[in-house]
Amino acid sequence: MNAATSTPSAAKAYCFDYLDRNAAAIACLNDNIFYFAELGMQEFETAKLMTALLEEAGFALERGIAGFPTGFCASFGSGHPVIALHTEYDANPDNSQISGIAEQKPIVEGAPGHCEGHNVNAAVLIAAALAAKAAMAKFGLAGTLKIFGAPAEEQLVSRPYFVRDGWFDDVDVAFHNHIAGNFRVGYGLIQAALVSATFTFRGETAHAGVAPWRARDALDGVVLMDMGLAQYREHITPGMRMHRVITDGGDQPNVVPRRAAVWWHFRDSTAEGAGKLFEQARRIAEGAALMSNTKVEIDVMSAVWPVRGNRTLAELVEREIERVGLPRWSEEEDALARALQAKVNVAADGLARAYVPMRGPSEQRTSANDAGDVSWKVPMVKLYFPATVPNISFHHWAAGVPLATSIAHKGAVAGAKALAAAALECFGNPAVVEEAKRTFKEELGGVTYKSLLPPGQKPPLDLNRATMDKFRPLLEKHYLKEKPRFAP
Ligand SMILES: [Zn+2]
Repeated sequence: MNAATSTPSAAKAYCFDYLDRNAAAIACLNDNIFYFAELGMQEFETAKLMTALLEEAGFALERGIAGFPTGFCASFGSGHPVIALHTEYDANPDNSQISGIAEQKPIVEGAPGHCEGHNVNAAVLIAAALAAKAAMAKFGLAGTLKIFGAPAEEQLVSRPYFVRDGWFDDVDVAFHNHIAGNFRVGYGLIQAALVSATFTFRGETAHAGVAPWRARDALDGVVLMDMGLAQYREHITPGMRMHRVITDGGDQPNVVPRRAAVWWHFRDSTAEGAGKLFEQARRIAEGAALMSNTKVEIDVMSAVWPVRGNRTLAELVEREIERVGLPRWSEEEDALARALQAKVNVAADGLARAYVPMRGPSEQRTSANDAGDVSWKVPMVKLYFPATVPNISFHHWAAGVPLATSIAHKGAVAGAKALAAAALECFGNPAVVEEAKRTFKEELGGVTYKSLLPPGQKPPLDLNRATMDKFRPLLEKHYLKEKPRFAP
């Protein structure tokens, strides 16, 4: 089969022209979301803006899907193939950063900020959706384009619930887009599986100076669980990782805490391994509760399978990446990149100048993404697009610097072109969709996908609410007045 011969090139040319014509609107959307700086589950302004643009363009909107107030599904067209595009749009805590300067300076001290480029992911998703839809309508391409907005990626929450609740049941193939320092696509296992759970210990208070023997110390439960897992670290397999933050350690030293909580992440290269690690942690938590005379409640906030890439789709996307090419960076953009790289002591080689083609399957990383479950349900690839400074690590102030500059703006247009073209290829060439489904079956090798979420598990609606309530009024002062307007 030669997919390239049936490429609907006129539709792609039309779609690229649409994106070039709307570059200013894409940049404006990107920057609006950057300044919203909303944490996971609290992306209300972001989702409102994204869904309004889709609705205005003629997509049918379903908001609040799978119990997520800031999640959505937008559809255009009818019948098969059903091509899904999905991405995230949440910010990170305590990483507010002024864009465009190579020094650490928050927009609002202590506030959340985009430092992983999910604002750009969102702009690419919407731009690609509008462009692909315009081309579908113009060239009469049959099928359904489905756009999913996935909340709280930074806490790896939403997509396992979407898949569990059937939102991907009729999808043929899916594409996920994510910012990077260069274009990249891969196949095989790409990221790790992860179980995210909170352990809340409950005991009884007492005056720590006067009658400590009356207390049952919930913080002891947290500490003993920590010690248990520290001992267990010797016996984990090399791909495993576990890390935690204590989210509640009591109020003051002379009141023995009756409530204490710790939030753990358990990772492994396989879903089975992450599940096993979590089960061991559960036993250790129960042991800690026994030792501290407390009770423990365990809440699995989310549990994700490792992201995998389908080879057929990866090869398809690679052809589109080569067609689009890297953005042409200006001297000023490259100078900002080099200054930033020098500032944080990484190789100061500026912005990406050449695409590095795939050479065999991807190397699996220890990062995770809640898109993982989608990639075991249907053939999927993750398209990384160049819109940030290479060598800079995410979840750090420096990663916020490029995100509302022309580096992000040019990268968003390039990313949207590759993503929209990949979708159009699937609509214009249904054989490639069938081929992806065939190779996907082979790639799964008999592994049956089964959600790692406990039965009946509900989304964590209060996640990040208190932090956003505190910072939103301060961030609002920096919201952009100008709103994106896309020309047909
Ligand atoms: Zn991300």
